[in-house]
Amino acid sequence: MQKGKQLYEGKAKIIYATEDPDLIIQYFKDDATAFNAAKKGTISEKGVMNNKISTKIFEFLASQGIPTHFEKNLNDREMLVKKVEIVPVEVIIRNKAAGSLCRLLGLKEGTALASTVLEFCYKRDDLGDPLINESHVLALKMATEAEVEAIRKYTLKINELLTRFFANLGLELIDFKLEFGRYKGKIILADEISPDTCRLWEIGTGKKLDKDRFRHDLGQIEEAYQEVLSRVNK
Ligand code: ADP
Ligand code: UDP
Repeated sequence: MQKGKQLYEGKAKIIYATEDPDLIIQYFKDDATAFNAAKKGTISEKGVMNNKISTKIFEFLASQGIPTHFEKNLNDREMLVKKVEIVPVEVIIRNKAAGSLCRLLGLKEGTALASTVLEFCYKRDDLGDPLINESHVLALKMATEAEVEAIRKYTLKINELLTRFFANLGLELIDFKLEFGRYKGKIILADEISPDTCRLWEIGTGKKLDKDRFRHDLGQIEEAYQEVLSRVNK
């Protein structure tokens, strides 16, 4: 697949066109940001590890009937994906309290939740990706009611599938973020699923194996991503 012109450079990835208007290339960078890009840095080989981890997860979800943008892995840092019109909403699922939920509701990290929490954030860097609800999504025409329903249904199913997938690898899935897009009139899963977008705690020790090591300067950042990759590759 011939790499065309650069269409977009984001905080963690670069998007390139291809000769097929329905397909784009996602190039995974080593750049890392946190707290709405107030903290910036690089994590050595993160792009390679996230490309490989995301590939495995998309392949697993596709095998379980989830429609995703993933087409194929091209090389260490690049994957070929379907070009979608991104729904400008970050969908967050939480199985235990962490991060912004603790700040919002005054909870201790790791607090159990009686049921799964599903949040929507408006994907707007200039506003700091504010927390919104379904009525904002509809009122601002970010998605239709049917699309929101599809997004909810896929997100809850993905949570079930990935909670089990990671538990089998000795990892607890605390929370994660998904992005969806429109492709030929249907909602499909897009973007990436990696330690940048999930919180993963080692079962037994509670060791954090995700971007919180970068956010909070916990050290052994590369090792944590590598550990997730080796488990996913098993
Ligand atoms: P950000 O834009 O938040 O800095 P990234 O650096 O990860 O994020 O950039 C990737 C961009 O590509 C994101 O804006 C994401 O919404 C978008 N994207 C992800 N998958 C697709 C896809 N299949 N088609 C079009 N755009 C996509
Ligand atoms: N997340 C993400 N991108 C974002 C915001 C959040 O991938 O722009 C992920 C984050 O890695 C975590 C989950 O979504 O797994 C919940 O994040 P939270 O709202 O707690 O974010 P924080 O404020 O701690 O960055």
